[in-house]
Order: sequence, then C-alpha cells, then structure tokens
Amino acid sequence: MPLITPDLMRRFDIPGPRYTSYPTADRFLPDPEGRVLKQALEVRAAEAALPMSLYVHVPFCESVCYYCACNKVITKDHTKVQDYLRYLEREIHQVSHHLVGPTGRLSPVSQLHFGGGSPTFLSDEELTALVQLLRSRFEFVEGAEYSIEIDPRTVNATRLAHVRALGFNRVSFGVQDFDPQVQLAVHRVQPYEQVETLMAQARALRFDSINVDLIYGLPHQSQASFTRTLEQVAALRPDRIALYAYAHLPARFKPQRRIDAAHLPGADLKLGMLDMAIETFLEQGYDYIGMDHFSLPQDLLAQVKREGRLQRNFQGYHTNAGSDLVGFGVSAISQVGRAYSQNLKTLTEYYAAIDAGRLPVDRGLTLTEDDLIRREVIMSLMCQGGIDFHALEQRYAIDVSTYFEDALMRIREFEQFDLVRRTATGLQVSKAGWFFVRAISMAFDKYLWLHSDHQRFSKVL
Ligand code: SF4
Repeated sequence: MPLITPDLMRRFDIPGPRYTSYPTADRFLPDPEGRVLKQALEVRAAEAALPMSLYVHVPFCESVCYYCACNKVITKDHTKVQDYLRYLEREIHQVSHHLVGPTGRLSPVSQLHFGGGSPTFLSDEELTALVQLLRSRFEFVEGAEYSIEIDPRTVNATRLAHVRALGFNRVSFGVQDFDPQVQLAVHRVQPYEQVETLMAQARALRFDSINVDLIYGLPHQSQASFTRTLEQVAALRPDRIALYAYAHLPARFKPQRRIDAAHLPGADLKLGMLDMAIETFLEQGYDYIGMDHFSLPQDLLAQVKREGRLQRNFQGYHTNAGSDLVGFGVSAISQVGRAYSQNLKTLTEYYAAIDAGRLPVDRGLTLTEDDLIRREVIMSLMCQGGIDFHALEQRYAIDVSTYFEDALMRIREFEQFDLVRRTATGLQVSKAGWFFVRAISMAFDKYLWLHSDHQRFSKVL
C-alpha cells in the first residue's frame, strides 16, 4: 500500500514554502545599509556565542541547466572569477570587522559550505586562494565540516584530490537523472560512468560523506527510466540522497521556458516516481530524514536526526545545533541570532555596494517574539516531525490553545487523514504526514494567512 495516495495528493499537494527559514526570505524588508546584519553581528560578537557556520556563494556556471531556479551567472569567461574573489575578500573583511568580540577575537567556525552556481567553476588555484583567505580571517575548529557542491562535468580525479587536500570532507554531486534523453531535455549531459568514476574516486579519497541530488518531475522521465536511475543511484550507495520535485515555474525562472511543458510527467506519474524512490531507498537501508532527504544510518545526518538534534537552514537539513550562519557573495543569506539578511543578487549591485563602502546587503529582518515562537514550531515540525507544546508554553509564557487557535483549526483536516496526530504534549507527524510536512507547517505561518499568497510557491510534493 503506497504511503501517498492520489486522494492525499489532491487534497494536500498545495503550493507552499520549503521553510529553510521562518519568516521566509520573501518577507525580508529592504535594508540597503545592512543595519539588521550589522546589529546582529555585533550582538553576536559581544556575546561570544557558539561556533558559527560560513557559506560562500559562487554564482558562475559554464552552461545553463533548463530546470535551474538558482541565482547564477552563465559565462565561459573565467577571468570574471578574479574580480569576484577580490570583492569577496573585501566583503569578508567588512563582515568580520563586525564580528570581533571584546577579546579582539572572532568566534571559531565549525562548518564551511561552498554553493552556487558551481563552486568548481573556480580553478584549483582560485579555490585554494578562497580557502586560504577564509582561514586567514577565521579560526576553524578541529574537525570542522567543509562541504562543497560539485558539478560532475567540471571535475576529474586530480581536481577532486585537490578539493580533498584543501580540507573539504563532504561533497555533494548534482546528478538529477541518469537517463540520456532526460539529460538532453534539461541541457545537462553527464553520463552515468562519469559520476560512477568520480564517486569511486571520492570514496578512495575518504570524504566523510557523499551526497547525490536527484530531481523527479523532469521532462521525458517515465516510470521505467526513473526506475533505472534509482537502481543506478542505489548501486553508487551515496551516504546522503536529496530527492527534489521539479517545480515548473517558467514565469519566474527564465531557463525553464526552454522546457516543453508537453514533455513533463503528469501528477500521477510524479506520484508513482516519488513512491518508487521512497520504496527503493528504504529497502536499500536508507533512513528517511525528512521532506526529501535520505541518508545511510551511520551518516552524521541520520545520527543527529535520531537524537532529535536535526536543524534546518538555507542549505536545507544540517547538523550544527544553535549555529549562526554567515553568508558571503551575491544573494547569500545570513542567519545570525534573531536576524536574517540577504545580499544583493546581481554582480553589478554587489560590487557597487562594496565600492561604496557598504555591506552588500539587499534585505533583512529582525524577528519579533511572535516570529521566534512560530519559527520554533515550524522548524520543529520540519526537523523533528513534531512539537512539544508544553515546553513551548513554558519557554514563551503562552497558552498554546489560544495563541494558536487558528493554526490548530487549520490542521484538523490533516488530523482527519492521519497525517498529524495530537499527543499528550503536542503534535506528531505520521509516516505519510512527513511528505506533507510543508503543508502542515503552513498552518503556523502567520504571513501566509495574512497575505493569502501561497500560490507563488512550488507544490509541496
Ligand atoms: S542547476 Fe546548478 S549547474 Fe545548472 S545552471 Fe543552475 S546553478 Fe548552474
């Protein structure tokens, strides 16, 4: 019996945020002076907080994938990188200046993530320069996590060895689908053998964790073709798998206009692919982490999930409890204390702000007490699949039944279909409910109900 039935899909597969933050990034307010970020960084510096995480956005890609919804710059001109690195250096100096505490030191870094775009657009020398720059400014804790997104088309064994030698201990390969026809239709051709070889090399280099990203709902995918892709992925045995649904929003994302909607799989087929993927990965011994993530039981992500310590931020699920995230580069988002801040999205704006001596910030938000309470509920649902209302009541001195009267009404329908259950202390999402956890979380999102604007988002499955 499949976990997700067509009836559940019809009722609950609705558009909604992915909740990598609450409030979601579209609720941030204009902050051209970067005041929100500055204040949050200075509060953090004064409090000598826990180690922090860093994110660096590298926006460049050589060619466009038609499904892409990322902030990127498509170019074959690699000389652009030099300018970008110079500006990154200036931004890192600006930001770290606000992070110096009373002892004159910066708090240490426990996680570093390079994302994009394609971080491996950078040459080996440029990657080295960027890592050295960060190390010259920040102190990394012993055993810090270094992770990097890798486009398999841009690396070989030598490059992978270089990445490992730089200290990266986690890699994420963008695979999406192995079927040649699907790869052609999305303009991302990377044969299975290429990824298989890289995975073997990554294992030999003893990366701590190897992730593979997949997408279902792409043009020309069929039950048979996706079954083959799943078998091939299972044979590679990555430590983590992220399985995303393709959201066709060509009005918002220009590259998607090159995808012929007539070739996209219908809702039933998408559901069939999702079901099959879940069955395959569970049978293969993967733990279900949440929403669209699976991991081998011995991987840190699964361990942290078992211990109830899973976290979520702009990179999705992560393991660093209570850690602030400081982002560098175009469009990068920071989450520091009770503030969020997002950088300017184009290179021109980003460079101009730094030249003017400003933090290259576009928007930001300092969370209210109500935002903090709702964030705790939504993140607990998204990460733990439940919420302890008693603990929440004590922490914030609220009465949940009145404070969340509307939200509790909204989740009644989910309760009727056994997607979420009331427990003695709070709420618990069921096995099937995990796949609709975004929709369940939406019940607690004040902004969605104030503005009735959830149609802008992709569907939850
Ligand atoms: S999907 Fe990744 S590699 Fe492809 S264009 Fe977008 S950012 Fe670049």
